[in-house]
Amino acid sequence: MPLTQIKYGLILMKVFHLSVECYPVAKVGGLADVVGALPKYQAKLGWEAAVVMPWYDRPFVRDHAFTVVHEGSFYQGSELLNFTVYKEAEDILGFGLYLIKIPGKLDRQEVYCYADEGEQFMAFQHAVLSWFKEKAIRPDIVHCHDHHVGLIPFLMKYSHDYIHLADVKTVATVHNGQYQGWTTWNKAVLLPAYDSWKWGLLDWDGLINPLAAMIKCCDAYTTVSEGYLEELYVEANGLQQLFYDERDKSVGIVNGIDWEIWDPATDYTLIANYDAKQAFAGKLKNKEALATQYNIDPKLPLLVFIGRFATEKGADLLPDIILELTAKYQGRLGIFILGAGDPAIQSRVKLLVDAGVENLDVFFGYDENLAHWLYASADFLLMPSRVEPCGLNQLYAMKYGTLPVVHRVGGLRDTVIDLDNDGYGVGFDGLTIPVITEAIIRATTFYASKKQFEENQRKMMRLDFSWDKSAAKYISLYNQIM
Ligand code: ADP
Repeated sequence: MPLTQIKYGLILMKVFHLSVECYPVAKVGGLADVVGALPKYQAKLGWEAAVVMPWYDRPFVRDHAFTVVHEGSFYQGSELLNFTVYKEAEDILGFGLYLIKIPGKLDRQEVYCYADEGEQFMAFQHAVLSWFKEKAIRPDIVHCHDHHVGLIPFLMKYSHDYIHLADVKTVATVHNGQYQGWTTWNKAVLLPAYDSWKWGLLDWDGLINPLAAMIKCCDAYTTVSEGYLEELYVEANGLQQLFYDERDKSVGIVNGIDWEIWDPATDYTLIANYDAKQAFAGKLKNKEALATQYNIDPKLPLLVFIGRFATEKGADLLPDIILELTAKYQGRLGIFILGAGDPAIQSRVKLLVDAGVENLDVFFGYDENLAHWLYASADFLLMPSRVEPCGLNQLYAMKYGTLPVVHRVGGLRDTVIDLDNDGYGVGFDGLTIPVITEAIIRATTFYASKKQFEENQRKMMRLDFSWDKSAAKYISLYNQIM
């Protein structure tokens, strides 16, 4: 039986989530939302849940008290790295939060896009295992999120120094299979010593591929929706065969939403709170306030896009969609774009704003509060994603009474049932501008029938996309593999 903690006569099973993002410490996208919520809901189900992530020079870290729980060191290649493990002192997040700091490597502001990113993530994983070893920590489950921590299952099984973890069960969650953390083999010297004849487990097509290694070595892998799992068997940026071959240990578990943060009735960032009963009026107040700061008309329906400017999200299609909608509606539809990313997409969107397109406004950048405000103010949310492992935006939108207009892929197909099928959203197949605009027109036609539209708002707001259900599915998976 694994080492467990005994508290008040109950045996608490313990899971450590390893991730480089976690809301509210460091968020780039949905990964952070999941890692900031899932452990909290697992703790409610009686598990002891903790998150371990790199230390960041960010507001949450500066504004909260942390205590040092461990100091250690290890060699990364020939370089001796000292690390410190901090624990958030007041447990305000509903789970234990641990941050690992390594001066010069894990002490930065941004999560991604550093030239030495691969070495940073290797150092993080090495430090986690070194801390576990020195403090004799032996969780019941180690849960790895995405490729940044993808080497962990391999290292736990085959590295010489961490042999005491060899039979601890590992779960790997794929939030996005497009990114795999490819590293050239000359970086292998930076890893802790491992059984060298096992090198093939790290390899995919001549590179170290942490995502592939994670899938090969974990005890179970999950994707963030069932639809996405099916898609990965067919196309996974080169790993489809691997996902398919390992399918017996796979399961799709759709993400939930954290209602302590995402609830328009209590959301402290909103101008006006509202529940399902007065959704239309409440949303209008938020829209009116938005119109005092941005170039939109509160009397018109409002369509928003919130997300990374990446082709994966279909953001490259936005300029043409906007042009087509402007021609069709002649300014009778408000459009708001909130996003950041690919500069080429950004400058094409900016050209339209500079050209004075009517009732169009944008915010280039990342702004958490503005995102909440837009979900609350908008009538429609557009998601023309090419790939969408789960998609949280559409879940937030529905909780805020905003009708999602989505490309039917991955998690969008699983979570948005079309109005035509007795559902509540609008889906479309194919990513051409006529198809997308036709879907938006279908949604706005529905808007014209106010009674039905308001009824649908209430219906969406009452849907149950809670973490309670999904967290329970993860726990039952843990129980199965232990
Ligand atoms: P991703 O693939 O980017 O992780 P998800 O739909 O899973 O997509 O999650 C996106 C999350 O990031 C949501 O919480 C969304 O509101 C948020 N988000 C994306 N872009 C921005 C932005 N520019 N400003 C604020 N929040 C954003």
